[in-house]
Amino acid sequence: LDPEEFRIQAHKVADFIADYYKNIEQFPVVSQVVPSYLRKTIPQQSAPNAPESLESILQDVSRHVVPGITHWQNPNFFAYFPASNSTAGLVGEMLSTGFNVVGFNWLSSPAVTELEMLVVDWFGEMLNLPKSFMFSGGGSGGGVLQGTTCEAILCTLVAARDKKLKEIGREKLSKLIVYASDQTHMSLQKAAQVAGFSEENFRVIKTTKSESFELSPNSLKMAIQSDIGKGFVPLYLCATIGTTSTNAVDPLDSLCDIALQNGIWVHVDAAYAGSACICPEFRHFINGVEKANSFSLNAHKWFFSAPDCCCLWLKDPSALRNSLSVNPPYLRNRATDSGEVVDYKDWQITLSRRFRAMKLWVVMKSYGVANLRKFLRSHVKMAKLFEELVMKDERFEIVVPRNFGLVCFRLSFNEVDISNAINLKLLEGINETGRAYMTHALIEGMYVIRFAVGGTMTEERHVVKAWKLVQELAEGVLAGV
Ligand code: PLP
Repeated sequence: LDPEEFRIQAHKVADFIADYYKNIEQFPVVSQVVPSYLRKTIPQQSAPNAPESLESILQDVSRHVVPGITHWQNPNFFAYFPASNSTAGLVGEMLSTGFNVVGFNWLSSPAVTELEMLVVDWFGEMLNLPKSFMFSGGGSGGGVLQGTTCEAILCTLVAARDKKLKEIGREKLSKLIVYASDQTHMSLQKAAQVAGFSEENFRVIKTTKSESFELSPNSLKMAIQSDIGKGFVPLYLCATIGTTSTNAVDPLDSLCDIALQNGIWVHVDAAYAGSACICPEFRHFINGVEKANSFSLNAHKWFFSAPDCCCLWLKDPSALRNSLSVNPPYLRNRATDSGEVVDYKDWQITLSRRFRAMKLWVVMKSYGVANLRKFLRSHVKMAKLFEELVMKDERFEIVVPRNFGLVCFRLSFNEVDISNAINLKLLEGINETGRAYMTHALIEGMYVIRFAVGGTMTEERHVVKAWKLVQELAEGVLAGV
């Protein structure tokens, strides 16, 4: 690695990326390529024998890679949940990649661990999390930056499993029950599969439209009682703040009360919506978190940081460490032996880990808490505007009350089959234009269009333009019915 050569190339790449962002609206939001397009268009079928210049590589990126990119940072991207990036997020990512360290334990790069401990505490303070989840709380709690929510859920589930089996005996594994609602993200089901739970041990509780797809405490209570009656042992509940399909908020406080009475580990999955809870007016959505065991959110969704960055806080990380610690002789060192340091390898599945704290720290310092709140509020305000526009057009309906930045809407039609077909046609039409990208959810058999606001470059004009596009295409779709 030649530092001067790096300087030259990094400047060129920074220019390339800056131009990409400058021109991003010129690209169709969702990639229009067909499967296997790359093999067919890329000139080389094997790795080149001779070196190539950066100019030639960047030319290939423009010609062959960019067409296959779905532009998540395009301000007209309203699909899934956002992956909001930012200048600070990019710069922080550059710094962490620049240092290129592998901070698996404290000694392998003390700053990786100590900056991580600091930023998870800062974030916890912004969220007004109870002190019991923070290093600065003086107790045993603390946080960790993992890659994704899938990992956070798997790790906490394994911790809960092992803790419970220690109490009741390992032979009782087949008696443990994991609770979810039918709106819980598939992360939990995957985690349960990996952690050795069969379908019989996985309880999916039905939610209803009349209860806004929230997990009903009463339904949970009944499911638990029924399981206990059959000799099962309740183990783990994943409550969601902002479900993927409709942004439903499970009533955490009441669910936690029931869980506590039954010795259940509660994990709170606030992957998308958690970030917004740094705003005092949204904080009430996580009321009750003080009774939960663990809480996670994805900073790479709505906290202006590049993937991957899932923040996980635990009241009792020792449960996690008991399940995930392996200490081979080649990693032994005085700092670990002193018991005075955190070795994050024991808080996650993998050994190697990225310096994720750097980007979060840069984001927090560059913008400041007041501005971060302002950005989040502006997204919610834009979603509210879109919701109002939908409500003014009697051909459409809002399917569930809006929470945070997600609007779920559809062309209303009495016949479910026809309604689903026309809304599918409308959504496909929108996405084929390349002028906006939205995705769908299927709830109670209803095909619903989801409009998620959260792009860093999204402004009110993009939202208004997207709505005009929806209206324009709706006319054609309805004319064909
Ligand atoms: N939980 C919720 C509520 C989500 O919406 C998502 C993804 O959108 C996830 C979990 C999965 O997140 P990850 O991809 O970080 O595992």
